[in-house]
Amino acid sequence: MQYRVGMGYDIHRLVEGRKLFLGAVEIPYTKGLLGHSDGDVLIHALCDALLGALALGDIGEYFPDTDPQYQGIASSRLLKIVKELLDKSGYKINNLDVIIIAQEPKLIPFKVHIKEKICALLGIAQDVLNIKAKTNEGLDAVGQREAIACYATASLTRGE
Ligand code: MG
Repeated sequence: MQYRVGMGYDIHRLVEGRKLFLGAVEIPYTKGLLGHSDGDVLIHALCDALLGALALGDIGEYFPDTDPQYQGIASSRLLKIVKELLDKSGYKINNLDVIIIAQEPKLIPFKVHIKEKICALLGIAQDVLNIKAKTNEGLDAVGQREAIACYATASLTRGE
């Protein structure tokens, strides 16, 4: 059996006039995440964790923020493309662990829905993905409600 581990991190600025998407779920809030795509920081961190485990670089190499074809794109589509790379490699997802750091809004009510969405997009069982949500205790840009950050870890296996 071959094992791989990858980590991902992302942060996006919270601004007015944008919808908030986390894990392909639209979350009611007064602000949304600024980005070339829909700014879904959770999916971006997850893509980077998977690409990292596959030793395939990072999300910016595949989906440059200067490329107009990715302008406003739903990040679920980016995750689908990374899933295709994963399938091609022969590796399977062993487990995924995600930490969303947001001072606001409270994400507990949305965790189940986010989990369902990501598991469906990746074709994995729900006990393979863990999502943790926490605040930044009021500290720094995330704590001041200026941004939302996310960390993700991916463990993959291949073979017998
Ligand atoms: Mg990003």
